[in-house]
Amino acid sequence: MQELKSLIREVPDFPKPGILFKDITTLLGDPGGLRRAIACLVEPFQEAAIDKVVGIESRGFIFGAAVADRLGAGFVPARKPGKLPARTVRVEYALEYGTDTLELHEDALDGGQRVLIVDDLLATGGTARAAADLVAGRGAEVHALAFLVELDALRGRDRLAGHDIFAALHY
Ligand code: AMP
Repeated sequence: MQELKSLIREVPDFPKPGILFKDITTLLGDPGGLRRAIACLVEPFQEAAIDKVVGIESRGFIFGAAVADRLGAGFVPARKPGKLPARTVRVEYALEYGTDTLELHEDALDGGQRVLIVDDLLATGGTARAAADLVAGRGAEVHALAFLVELDALRGRDRLAGHDIFAALHY
């Protein structure tokens, strides 16, 4: 795990002062690191009979699609507003300042399907909470949420109460 951590670059004051950004592009560019990161996200869910992986725009697409492939599941993108072409459902959620929105195609999930939600990083949990609410709103089952990185001090887990959460790396 220390080896994976060493592949993540920390960029101070991005995208704004005071944020220490965990830049995973350095990990993605390392063949062994990419493979290990995907394997870490897949391993806990091998036997979970996941039907669909929902990846959160945009870094959740990179890991989510790879995880879906290895689990034999389909992949569903949860996108920022206005990006998905067909009919969508949406959830608005609060940010530190203002609000943001996530959308799913309304026919992307069927009732009762077992869903794994994937993103690169869990910070305050607002984004993941919105994704979980979208999935549940379609009548599907949120089996778990999986992240490569969790920023423990921000207590994102508290916003995801009632859900199983997996994170490979903790800071
Ligand atoms: P949150 O809704 O606060 O849990 O934020 C999660 C989303 O913001 C994820 O999609 C992350 O990619 C991104 N994010 C938040 N904080 C950071 C950080 N310090 N470094 C990299 N990405 C971050």
